[in-house]
Amino acid sequence: MNNKEIIKCQFSKRKKELINKIQELLNIQQVKLISYFDDKDSFFYELGQKNGLYLNISYLGRGPFKENELTEVFDHGNYDHLIWISKEISECEEIDLVWTYSHELQHLIHALEDPNISIISDYIWKVWGKMDYTKHWLELPNELDCEKTAKKITEIIFDKQICKNYIEKKFGLQFKAKLDYLKNVISNNIYEELKKIIIENKFIYLKFENEISKEYNINIDIAEFIN
Ligand SMILES: [Zn+2]
Repeated sequence: MNNKEIIKCQFSKRKKELINKIQELLNIQQVKLISYFDDKDSFFYELGQKNGLYLNISYLGRGPFKENELTEVFDHGNYDHLIWISKEISECEEIDLVWTYSHELQHLIHALEDPNISIISDYIWKVWGKMDYTKHWLELPNELDCEKTAKKITEIIFDKQICKNYIEKKFGLQFKAKLDYLKNVISNNIYEELKKIIIENKFIYLKFENEISKEYNINIDIAEFIN
């Protein structure tokens, strides 16, 4: 089955072209991906405030998406991957859409390289949620890499100066400095960097294993990842 885009919101022809262009730049293959540009925002799905989301359906199920039009798509199609983009971003400026969609596609690329990246990062994220640590999301190596990709694609499609102004205006100088700093301290080996996060605080991650497994009805074996 081919990759498919479902556009529920207001979307210009130019935005459709940009979506294709980003897929081409990132060399996205046909992998049963559904890209869903919603006419609903993240609060509808009780996702907090989120611009977009990548979900490895084949490994992690439906995630936060309960029964609705979106999940009907899963039922009728045989999809392995979902990229969900909120109404807010889909209907925003082209540059916002380019940034967010590139970011989420990079999550897909990670999952294709190694499905463990999706599983382990999802688990760390859930633990961070319990420890009120989510404002440090950029320190997750996969998130950092996705932001690096978003920046790279935005620079190619617009230009370096426009991208620089966008980052400063949208995310602020502090974010820019943090991105530049982390790029130098976190290596490109995402799986090893994720493992490092768990090993450094092994007991915290092991402690939450049962609680999170129950809460999300999933089977996690953290020891298996770090041994
Ligand atoms: Zn992300």
